[in-house]
Amino acid sequence: MSFINLIAIDGPAASGKSTLAELIAKKLNYFFFDTGVMYRAVTLAALEQVKDLDDEAKVTEVANRIQVDVQPASKEDGRVMDIQLDGEDVTWQIRTPEVDQNVSKVSAYAGVRKAMTDQQRRIGERGNMVMVGRDIGTVVFPDAKHKIYLEASPEERARRRFIEVQKRGESTTYDDILASIRKRDEVDSSRAVAPLKPAADAHVIDSDSKDIEVVLEEALQILGKPVS
Ligand code: C5P
Repeated sequence: MSFINLIAIDGPAASGKSTLAELIAKKLNYFFFDTGVMYRAVTLAALEQVKDLDDEAKVTEVANRIQVDVQPASKEDGRVMDIQLDGEDVTWQIRTPEVDQNVSKVSAYAGVRKAMTDQQRRIGERGNMVMVGRDIGTVVFPDAKHKIYLEASPEERARRRFIEVQKRGESTTYDDILASIRKRDEVDSSRAVAPLKPAADAHVIDSDSKDIEVVLEEALQILGKPVS
């Protein structure tokens, strides 16, 4: 199978990959699919259904049982897509600090990754899609024609996330965000299954001290699409 109409964008937490992917999707009239939401949905379900998230077998059972789906946004409340967990809208429930703190642990379990990879492939086959994650170019769609890996330093990513969080009126500090980003990087890059890393044939873009317009331009050039 060839995934000509699938663009894979990978990179660490808060690297700006979702913002970039959304802009590319809008420009090409593709569907934007952020796969992080799937791991967040499993984490939410596991927090509700399993007492101890260290219990890999039970968490994996949850991942195998649930159905996660993404659909175009049904409401204008700031969402870019609808996230459904067994048919229920969980778009905002998956963004809590509790999910943030546990998602790397849950997504490191091999059985969880297998279940979610299968669901991502099912969704990816709809085509015309910009798919964002940690392992799209390496594992989920290694045949994707276009692969971009977006990088930025932990400090720059924490700075961007801090501005977002302040806008939402939340009271986290920059240092807490930086610590959380470093921890997630560590867990995501060192896990045994599908660790975070660029695919050998990915185009790496370093977004440190670059505006999103510049990053978009670079990406569109890589994709061979007209810039303006
Ligand atoms: O991108 P986002 O921060 O929403 O992803 C949440 C977490 O889900 C990441 O920290 C990572 O542990 C996990 N993830 C993953 N593989 C993906 C997407 C996300 O392991 N393809």
